Amino acid sequence: MASGVNSGYAPLDVTVAGKPSNKKRVAYFYDSDVGNYAYVAGHPMKPHRIRLAHSLIMHYGIYKKMEIYRAKPATHHEMTQFHTDEYIDFLAKVTPDNMDSFQKEQGKFNVGDDCPVFDGLFEFCSISAGGSMEGAARLNRGKCEIAVNWAGGLHHAKKAEASGFCYVNDIVLGIIELLRFNQRVLYIDIDVHHGDGVEEAFYTTDRVMTASFHKYGEYFPGTGELRDIGVGSGKHYAVNFPLRDGIDDESYKSIFEPVIQGIMDFYQPEAIVLQCGGDSLSGDRLGCFNLSMRGHANCVQFVKSFGKPTLVLGGGGYTMRNVARTWAFETGTLVGQEMESALPYNEYYEYYGPDYDLDVRASNMENANSREYLEKIKIQVLENLRHTAHAPSVQSTVIPGATFLGGTEEDDDVVADLDEDENPDVRMTEHRQDKQITRDDEFDESDDEGDARPKLHGSRINWNGQRRVNFMDFQFHDDVEMEISGSRESVPSPPLIEVDVILAAAAANAEVNSEVMDQKSQILVAEATAETGPSNAPSRSHSIKAPIDPDGDIEMDEPAAAVSDQESEAEEPISTAQAPLSPAASIPTTTDAVVAPTPIPETNIKMEGESTKIPLP
Ligand SMILES: [Zn+2]
Repeated sequence: MASGVNSGYAPLDVTVAGKPSNKKRVAYFYDSDVGNYAYVAGHPMKPHRIRLAHSLIMHYGIYKKMEIYRAKPATHHEMTQFHTDEYIDFLAKVTPDNMDSFQKEQGKFNVGDDCPVFDGLFEFCSISAGGSMEGAARLNRGKCEIAVNWAGGLHHAKKAEASGFCYVNDIVLGIIELLRFNQRVLYIDIDVHHGDGVEEAFYTTDRVMTASFHKYGEYFPGTGELRDIGVGSGKHYAVNFPLRDGIDDESYKSIFEPVIQGIMDFYQPEAIVLQCGGDSLSGDRLGCFNLSMRGHANCVQFVKSFGKPTLVLGGGGYTMRNVARTWAFETGTLVGQEMESALPYNEYYEYYGPDYDLDVRASNMENANSREYLEKIKIQVLENLRHTAHAPSVQSTVIPGATFLGGTEEDDDVVADLDEDENPDVRMTEHRQDKQITRDDEFDESDDEGDARPKLHGSRINWNGQRRVNFMDFQFHDDVEMEISGSRESVPSPPLIEVDVILAAAAANAEVNSEVMDQKSQILVAEATAETGPSNAPSRSHSIKAPIDPDGDIEMDEPAAAVSDQESEAEEPISTAQAPLSPAASIPTTTDAVVAPTPIPETNIKMEGESTKIPLP
């Protein structure tokens, strides 16, 4: 317990880091329609994985320890709190049937390759964003301590551009919602890819700190260098931890925990958003890390241990069975439930053969992250954090002797040294690359299996739009998943990288990074914050509490039933006494109006009475 100074106040209810506080109210958002959407044939992103995860969550009985909601899908208007009207208009109207008449727009908004037009695209985005916004709104109202939306976490989407399988950035929208009531929000991203869309959205503000741990170097999206730390008021409020292939549980923990602890100490966020991309798991179809399910979930447990209001989101993850296992296990972690390793029988049981086991295990792939490398980067990241003390409510002071990264020639040398064998690409399209390595039999349930991927891949488009033979060969060199007689085993094959390829890539990288930094610097703080700031937008306050029949909910073809009941609680207007914060300090705030609840037209969720708790079997 704390110190002996008697302040005359009652002792604070302090949650000590590392000691999970006991009871957390967990709100879980799930829309049974989400699994029905499909990107185009052969596309690695499969919304079906969310249904797989949900099925495990239900069959493990985790639903008994949380409240389950179906969020109102995000509206066109809500999405434009971050995205441009023009972009959202386009997403709302483009369909596979009319897309040919939108050639120009497709190019402009980067829709068509990684981010194809598919049936129900806008509805899919609405569900994803609605869950994250609603989760944030419930956290704001103190209705739960943890909100979960596995359909969210689509971190690559930009203000007016789709990217990396993401169209609408539910994370940015959720954070904007949190900024109404929280002065400082921390975003943590453990997807294997850099959380570029979220970082960019808040690059110039100290109201949001973004922290991304990701593979860096000849890897999508090509951003997320150590020295990218934010600009203007946002300088030092972006944290990037570049990693190499094959990072394992222990190594990851050795950097994740100290960095997050440092952020909690220095920045003292009031709310946290955790993106749990499952492509950082061992054996992911597109990933290159070697985390086990438990190593991945350790991040969730650690973040939970701080006891802050936390929005937990999905993200990438392309080996469906492993994503489902992990997100189910992490849901169990959040509610504090032990889970047996033998999977409960469920309608997707065959996905989990031959072992039918909960665990996703690490492989024997090489860890290219040396202890020295990780320590060096960690120290630099922690040094940078010293400049963030409790901003924006407390003036940050210059710390004598502290190392700044992100400007001087010395800094460049440090970074160059650290990244000497990195040669990132830009505008790499995951899908183009993937197309060359997988079959087109999209609906074959086994097509997320690693055995569809040959060891070597053909040429692909590089940053100049030129075709460079084997440039990307080394991306997947060591995560070829073998499924031979029941054993999952990785076969490492060390990459042979041509010196001229490295030099060319390094030169391109420097060019691209300076371009990116220039673009970012040119964004006026006022503009960026104003356009992400929903100063007069209505707060979210309505979702349907969905008492779910574990067996009934997850049928794909179950007839839709009309739903008219609403959550009876929590619809109270926000009083001026708890006037929401404006995301941008410069923007005048109006007290949020609460939108009248709108009935959701149909659902597959079985409703068993008005706003009742989840029935126990
Ligand atoms: Zn990813």
